[in-house]
Amino acid sequence: MALIVHKYGGTSMGSVERIRNVAKRVAKWSRAGHQLVVVPSAMSGETNRLLGLAKELSPVSTTAELARELDMIASTGEQVSSGLLAIALQAEGLQAVSYAGWQVPISTDTAHTKARISAIDDKRVRADLAAGRVVVITGFQGVDPQGNITTLGRGGSDTSAVAVAAALKAAECLIYTDVDGVYTTDPRVVPEARRLQTITFEEMLEMASLGSKVLQIRSVEFAGKYRVPLRVLSSFTPWDIDLSEEARSGTLITFEEDEKMEQAIVSGIAFNRDEAKISLLGVTDKPGIAYQILGPVADANIDVDVIIQNVSHAGRTDFSFTVHRNDYARTLELIKRVVLPVTGAADLVGDAKICKVSIVGIGMRSHVGVASKMFSVLSQEGINIQMITTSEIKTSVVIDEKYMELAVRALHKAFDLEQPAG
Ligand code: ASP
Ligand code: MG
Repeated sequence: MALIVHKYGGTSMGSVERIRNVAKRVAKWSRAGHQLVVVPSAMSGETNRLLGLAKELSPVSTTAELARELDMIASTGEQVSSGLLAIALQAEGLQAVSYAGWQVPISTDTAHTKARISAIDDKRVRADLAAGRVVVITGFQGVDPQGNITTLGRGGSDTSAVAVAAALKAAECLIYTDVDGVYTTDPRVVPEARRLQTITFEEMLEMASLGSKVLQIRSVEFAGKYRVPLRVLSSFTPWDIDLSEEARSGTLITFEEDEKMEQAIVSGIAFNRDEAKISLLGVTDKPGIAYQILGPVADANIDVDVIIQNVSHAGRTDFSFTVHRNDYARTLELIKRVVLPVTGAADLVGDAKICKVSIVGIGMRSHVGVASKMFSVLSQEGINIQMITTSEIKTSVVIDEKYMELAVRALHKAFDLEQPAG
C-alpha cells in the first residue's frame, strides 16, 4: 500500500462524464489498497471564463491592482471541480472529502496571481487518509498569512499537486493530462517525435523553460528540490486498464543518478517562438555598459533571455539581447528613451521574427562536439545562426522564425531521436 497523489488537468475534468471517469480511475487505485490524494484543475476553459468576466468589468489594464480580487474569482474554478469530484467518488462507493487551499491549509506568500507555497499542514489530510477517505484538494490556490485567497499562476495545479506530494512524502505524484507523456519534441512539428520513458529533472526544467508546456515549470523545480517522483501520463486511457500497466505508462521524471535512464546524448529539441531581439550597434565599450543598457530593462520588470556582447573594435561594440515578444515594443521604446542618450549607440535595430531552438540532454555534459554537430546540421540546411547560448546540458540558437520547423526537424533526425536510445 502506498500514498499516491493524482493530479487531473482541466481537460480531464472537462465535463460531468469525464469527472465520472476520473472518479472510476481513482476508485480503481483506492480499491487496490492505496491511499489517494487527488488534486484537480478547474474544468477546462473555466479559469479563462472567470478571468474574462473580471476583465469585462474593469477598465484597469494592469492586473496588479486587481490581483487580490482576481484570485478570489479564479480560485472558484478549482473549488467547483473539487466538490464535484468528491461527489463522484462518493457515487463510486468511496468515502471522499474535498478541501479548498485555505482549509488544508496550503500557506503561500502574498504575491497574488503568482503566489509561492511556503508550507502545507498535513494533519487534516493524514487524519482523513487514516480514516479511509480519499482526499480531494483544490489545485492552483492557497492562502496568505492574512487569510487572503491566493493563486499560484496559470497552470499552478501541477505545483499544488507536487507540493502536496512533497508534504505527504507520497510514493509518487501522477500528473494525468491530455498528452501521454513528454516527447522528444512537439509531435505537431515532427510527426516522428517519440515519447520518452524517462527524462531527468534537469532536462525537464530546460524543456519546460524552453516552451514545452506539459508541466508548469515551478512544479518541476519543486519536484527536483523535494525529490518527488513525478510521472506524466494520459487521462484518456480507459479507466479500467490494468493498474500496473497504467503505473508504468507515460514519462517518469527521474534523478540523474537513477538507473535505467535512456542513454541518449540529446534527449529533446525544444523551441520557443515568443522572443524578440534588440541590438544596439556601435556602443561605446567602457565599464558599466551592459548595466547601462540592461539596468533600465530590469527596473521595468522585463525579463531578458539571451545576451551577446561582441569583441570591441576601435572602442565600439555591438550589444544584443532577447526579450519576450509581448515586451518587445515596450523595451524598444525604453531603450530609445532612456538608454540611447547615454550609450551613444550608432544604431538600434530590432527583430520580432526570430525563434529559439535548443538541444537538451544530460549526456552533453560528458560528450564533446554536440554543439558543433548542431551548428553543422543548421549550416547544411542553410540556416543562419544569429545568437548562441549554452549551459551544461543545453545549446540554444536564435534563428529566423521562418526556419524554425526546418531546424527542429533536421536536428531531431540528426540526433537520432526517432529511435529509442539503446
Ligand atoms: N485552472 C488554472 C489554470 O487554468 C490552474 C491549472 O489548471 O493548473 O491556469
Ligand atoms: Mg496544465
